[in-house]
Amino acid sequence: MVAALEISGLKVLYGQAIEALDGVSITVPDGGFVALLGANGAGKSTTLKAISGLLRFENGRIAEGTIKYRGEDIAAIPSYQLARRGILHVREGRFVFPTMTVEENLEASLFARGKRGPALARRVYEEVFHYFPALKERAKSQAGYLSGGEQQMLAIGRALFAQPELLMVDEASLGLAPKIAADIFTILDKISNDRKLSILVVEQNVTLALRHAAYGYVLENGRIVSEGESQKLLDRDSLSRRYLGGG
Ligand code: ATP
Repeated sequence: MVAALEISGLKVLYGQAIEALDGVSITVPDGGFVALLGANGAGKSTTLKAISGLLRFENGRIAEGTIKYRGEDIAAIPSYQLARRGILHVREGRFVFPTMTVEENLEASLFARGKRGPALARRVYEEVFHYFPALKERAKSQAGYLSGGEQQMLAIGRALFAQPELLMVDEASLGLAPKIAADIFTILDKISNDRKLSILVVEQNVTLALRHAAYGYVLENGRIVSEGESQKLLDRDSLSRRYLGGG
């Protein structure tokens, strides 16, 4: 299968001395669903920020390695231009505009792809509401009044509204009830299948992520220490002991 995203030997520094990533290589196949796993501080968010061009806002930089999207090196491209090409990053912490309604939040992200117009907006509304019917019921509510799960759905819905080709989601399940977290992953699964969307998720909930992703990578101290098909990773003893609490 053709790779949508191909990261090779990525080394990232914050400031002069903090080495957050040291030789990370990751591939996301076209239309594939891949999980990046690991404990706090392993370098998962840094990897996503390197891809989406957000590192520069945190005094971070790529010191070595390449990030290719459909064969083109994108490491130097600013994040707003990457968004126009369909590379969307849903950051940890559900960045929604709390005083704007659900509809307004969605609409704001059409600009991310540099497209607008009522016909397009209507079509994308229908699509987002198809995947997240709970958001349709809350369309006129202020985002700040939504539950944690609904806000996460809105954050993902906003990225969908910008019509992504590669969607990256950082810690989708953080702070959510298990049922809601599972629902969100089921929807991501469905979107990936329906639209041939490539998805890269960062997760601390290993079992949940590997139940949905086809392939996983495990990061530890800025290095990939394990990778493989999800089922094999789940079966692997060392991974179970380290991340699943005993199994
Ligand atoms: P978490 O789940 O806690 O977000 P993570 O696996 O996503 O963990 P990163 O946030 O990528 O890890 O952090 C990787 C390393 O880089 C950590 O040692 C962290 O302290 C460091 N780091 C992250 N952001 C910065 C920053 N802006 N400046 C300096 N160091 C940073």
